[in-house]
Amino acid sequence: MSQLSHQIQLLRRPTGLPTPADFALREVPLPEPQEGEVLVANQWLSVDPYMRGRMSEAKSYVPPFPLNGPLDGGAIGTVLASRHPGFKVGDRVSSMLGWRDSFVARGEQLTLLPATPLPSQLFLGALGMPGMTAWAGLHKVAKLQAGETLLVSAASGAVGTMAVQLAKRAGARVIGSTGSADKVAYLKTLGVDAVINYRETPDLDAELARLAPEGIHVYFENVGGAMLEAALNQMTVHGRIVLCGLIEQYNSNGGASGPRNLAQMIRKRILMQGLLVSDHWQHYGDFLAEAIPAFEAGALQAEETVSEGLASMPQAFIGLFEGRNTGKMLVKLD
Ligand code: NDP
Repeated sequence: MSQLSHQIQLLRRPTGLPTPADFALREVPLPEPQEGEVLVANQWLSVDPYMRGRMSEAKSYVPPFPLNGPLDGGAIGTVLASRHPGFKVGDRVSSMLGWRDSFVARGEQLTLLPATPLPSQLFLGALGMPGMTAWAGLHKVAKLQAGETLLVSAASGAVGTMAVQLAKRAGARVIGSTGSADKVAYLKTLGVDAVINYRETPDLDAELARLAPEGIHVYFENVGGAMLEAALNQMTVHGRIVLCGLIEQYNSNGGASGPRNLAQMIRKRILMQGLLVSDHWQHYGDFLAEAIPAFEAGALQAEETVSEGLASMPQAFIGLFEGRNTGKMLVKLD
């Protein structure tokens, strides 16, 4: 008797903020693994802001998700059956075959998790793509130096929490921006020197000037809009901006906001560089060599916001744009 896999499919392309009605939970047959294939049951699924871009038809660096087909994304699972020499029953693996509870795939589509007692779901967040994004942005793009002042937007999220901690380890003075009092308090526990609750700060320029009288040497940009304008006003001469994300725009219907003050880049000779983490994947081993021992020693911390069950996945995804997560937003399966 053939088994079934459950998966979330995209029913229609969202307009503005996605709604649960844009998605459907469907059952599909799960084939028997053939030679070279592996059967995996997922335990942890990732929702990430970049997935919003793939839900539209706009041309980007990754193709759009198909309608009425499986979505994909980061996942951690356990091997249930293997006909591939590189995997055995019980192995913990990561894949891009998320948004579903189980699947059969070729072994080449799977990566064995490194041997560590750390929780496996860290490899979707702090030790996975978001953590690597923070590390690459700070060290490969901005080349952050000890003693510099760094501003990080969406600082309490998956990328942000790693960016602020890695920057502190590198000897920087770190300012974070986030959207609630609880998140401000959390960031302070991570050793962030100063935190802005942007929702309760009517004058971002004045607040940044107060918190960084020496100016901002590096801005790690995850949001865009008003914070980017305020950061440009406060950057030092020869400051660097890592353009990692612009989440403030992801649900806008074409009406992208600012910055209206790009002239600051000329006056201050600011360097702004876009970041795609995939360009830096050859350094993932270097990142893990630093980050795994630091987590094992308790010198790095990771927070998670966990929603339970495959059916909750659309809502967890939407929650990213409503600020519902502290640290990495994850979906846990039974
Ligand atoms: P997060 O865990 O940071 O979750 C998103 C957070 O963004 C929310 O919790 C919310 O926090 C904040 N946010 C959402 N909407 C808005 C808004 N309209 N205005 C201001 N803040 C908002 O996500 P990630 O860490 O996974 O991603 C962070 C950024 O990094 C995203 O822009 C993402 O696209 C980008 N990214 C880029 C990569 C690359 O290779 N270039 C790779 C990975 C991520 P708050 O409460 O603080 O508002």
